[in-house]
Amino acid sequence: MANNMKYFIGNWKMFGVPKSINILDKINKFIKSDKKFSKKYKVVITPPNTLIQSYSKFFLNKKISIGAQNCYHEDNFGANTGAISSLMIKSVGAQYVIVGHSDNRSEGDTDAMLKSKLENSLNNKLKVVFCIGENKEHKLKNKTFEVLESQIKNVLEEKFNFKDIIVAYEPIWSIGTGQIPETNDLLKTTIFIKKILKNIFKKSSPAVLYGGSVDGKNISQFKKLNDIDGFLIGGASKSDKNFIDIIKNYYK
Ligand code: PEP
Repeated sequence: MANNMKYFIGNWKMFGVPKSINILDKINKFIKSDKKFSKKYKVVITPPNTLIQSYSKFFLNKKISIGAQNCYHEDNFGANTGAISSLMIKSVGAQYVIVGHSDNRSEGDTDAMLKSKLENSLNNKLKVVFCIGENKEHKLKNKTFEVLESQIKNVLEEKFNFKDIIVAYEPIWSIGTGQIPETNDLLKTTIFIKKILKNIFKKSSPAVLYGGSVDGKNISQFKKLNDIDGFLIGGASKSDKNFIDIIKNYYK
């Protein structure tokens, strides 16, 4: 996972039935035919678990990679009703998994649980999209950096391969609200996150993405920020047109 790669990762959350594969098929056709879509760009979609197997099969050796939105904090098999482990996700073809999304943090995921999810996922050869982000109160109290630093340091360690980890900075106040950070604030925060990551991983840093209300219009405000290695996209990833607009307008 080269650091100069730009990622467009779509998180479908609780959306999608088998025929929604049409959306991905259109995105796939676009990236296959668009001359500007080079090896520098990577598209990953995380549909709900019910669709991972069929979508992974369909997109095997195509341009879109499939991931999961979460996994259980214990590995393999267990007596945990409704839970799905990283081993199970990998076994049906997922290549990526999101760990630490604020939806799951707010449902009780602790740093210790997230570390276990991340470690199990890496052991099962999944690439991990590790989400961090402050809430509105942290932001208003100027605690953003403190919160991000502890979220990172409580989970990431030098022993993990930085190439298999993508950090997604998602301010919670921005998710699904239409509000995005000021360009300068986002630049400072991204640089801060990369500094913390370089301290952990020594010379290198995992890719760092931004997530929160990204759409086909506001994407133009992010493209000057070269330090951002891509985007985690929720709402706008559920429509092929919106998702394609984000990619097109990014490299326009
Ligand atoms: C998300 O939930 O990770 C997200 C970024 O959502 P949205 O793009 O809808 O704000």
